[in-house]
Amino acid sequence: MSFALHGYAVAPGIAIGHAHLVSHAKLEVAQYQLRERDIETELARFDAALATVRTELSLLKSEAGASPGAAAELSAFVDLQSMFLVDPLLAEVPREMIQTRRCNAEWALVQQMEQLVVQFDEMEDAYLRERKQDIVQVVERILKVLLGKSRKITRRKGAGDGDLIIVAHDLSPADTIQFKRLKIGGFATDLGGGTSHTAIVARSLAIPAVVGLHHARPLLRDNDLLIIDGTRGVLIVDPDARVLEEYRLRKSEMELERSKLKRLKTSRAATLDFEEISLVANIELPQDIDKVREVDADGIGLFRTEFLFMNRNELPDEDEQFETYRSVAKALPGKVVTIRTLDSGADKRTRVMRGLDRREPNPALGLRAIRYCLAEPQIFLAQLRAILRASHYGKVRLLIPMLAHAHEIKQSLIMIEQAKEQLRESRTKFDENIEIGGMIEIPAAALALGPFLKHLDFLSIGTNDLIQYTLAIDRTDESVAYLYDPLHPAVLRLVAQTIERGARAGLPVAVCGEMAGDASMTRLLLGMGLRQFSMHPSQLLEVKQQILRSNVSRLRPKVTRLLRYDDAARVREQLALLDD
Ligand code: PEP
Ligand code: MG
Repeated sequence: MSFALHGYAVAPGIAIGHAHLVSHAKLEVAQYQLRERDIETELARFDAALATVRTELSLLKSEAGASPGAAAELSAFVDLQSMFLVDPLLAEVPREMIQTRRCNAEWALVQQMEQLVVQFDEMEDAYLRERKQDIVQVVERILKVLLGKSRKITRRKGAGDGDLIIVAHDLSPADTIQFKRLKIGGFATDLGGGTSHTAIVARSLAIPAVVGLHHARPLLRDNDLLIIDGTRGVLIVDPDARVLEEYRLRKSEMELERSKLKRLKTSRAATLDFEEISLVANIELPQDIDKVREVDADGIGLFRTEFLFMNRNELPDEDEQFETYRSVAKALPGKVVTIRTLDSGADKRTRVMRGLDRREPNPALGLRAIRYCLAEPQIFLAQLRAILRASHYGKVRLLIPMLAHAHEIKQSLIMIEQAKEQLRESRTKFDENIEIGGMIEIPAAALALGPFLKHLDFLSIGTNDLIQYTLAIDRTDESVAYLYDPLHPAVLRLVAQTIERGARAGLPVAVCGEMAGDASMTRLLLGMGLRQFSMHPSQLLEVKQQILRSNVSRLRPKVTRLLRYDDAARVREQLALLDD
């Protein structure tokens, strides 16, 4: 039966293909049928995994006892997980499934977990609803033991390129980054907001995606025929022939439009009144460089290095990082390469970061980005040395995320100086004059720019987080995604103010959040005085097209007027007038 689900459009385009259901984030497990005689062994394997996790948890509890600060919180959390571990719903039901359905232990466990997650989701009480995370975590622990290590998302045999549409309850950025090697057609998730890092990775891959669908995962079956309309935020299941034909037509029209844009590759990005604009790219991994070259970007405005730390069991050491950063610097000779230091934490979690495995009450407000780096100086220093060493091979700049306090800027600069001193001592070459920039993504930073202007060489506005923190909206939470509004007057004033104050102080300012790659915002940002835009390569030519049609001197007064309105509806009206 054909039906449609509506969610949030996060990456434009149309994908037509077959559903590949992924169990919970990071929990993609194989399903296989057991022989009758192997059932007992499988049950023993399941019981042994539970016993191992029980031991792990009691060890964790006794370790917590040794560090008084964390003891109460950690032991409550361990107690809760231990309770789930002995609950028949987790300990017994999967056993029954192994016996009756002859399925492997991992599969039985994940099926049961998904049932429980759905039941918890439907609970009235917010506290109880939240407990589903504890179930997921305890299942993750058991699976890790069963699998020996965590599994990768794999392509089903026989699926052609682009034919695969991943459907999941949730996907972490670490899961999504794996799509770079899988060549999938699109994806759809029940959870997630439009500027979660999962959505950002989708845009960087230029694959259509819809998030926040609520019930797609339980309603769909493997291999269902799907259409993802990533522009309108719709997932169509089992479309009839007419709808399918219509979408095929739209898909080819969109592809034609995109290929026409390619003609702009070699044109200089300048406005009608001859203002030169710099268009640089955001990347997550070195292989993204090919896409950067395809659109001939002026360089890299944001290299999100935390993606190098994901999907692995040990930290990338200094040499490995150096090789990676150098490869990017050398791939773009003469062009600026802005390497951002580790921005882990919140939704960008990694297995290998100490301290990030604890349960945080508010991860987006917690130990992330520069806060984590300053708390782990050895990890930070290794990365700083690696970036500095790479600076000898190109025009490398260093960018620090999530700064809010003057003392964080000073401490970061001291650590950079320390890393430089270590390299001087070992006679290792680096660019002594490497430029150091700070991200403006916390309202406090935008409102108190003094120390940034005084101590740094450039600024980059991270609108994704700036919006999240200004409007107090978790960017990963689909239930408040409707409130995530880049056009909220408070957000626009913070952005405009930062651009203007940077210009007055003679400091280059870029925008590297998703707003920079949204062609409907290009004129607004130009009118605010922005001269550097950093975005996914797939968005660059569309933004360039807007720039070529714009006249900055005419936009300026209109944008000044727009910024006076407190009402977002009036702002939208004024935005429409910028196109005249
Ligand atoms: C931002 O916050 O706008 C930004 C560019 O950083 P990230 O999306 O990686 O948090
Ligand atoms: Mg950010």
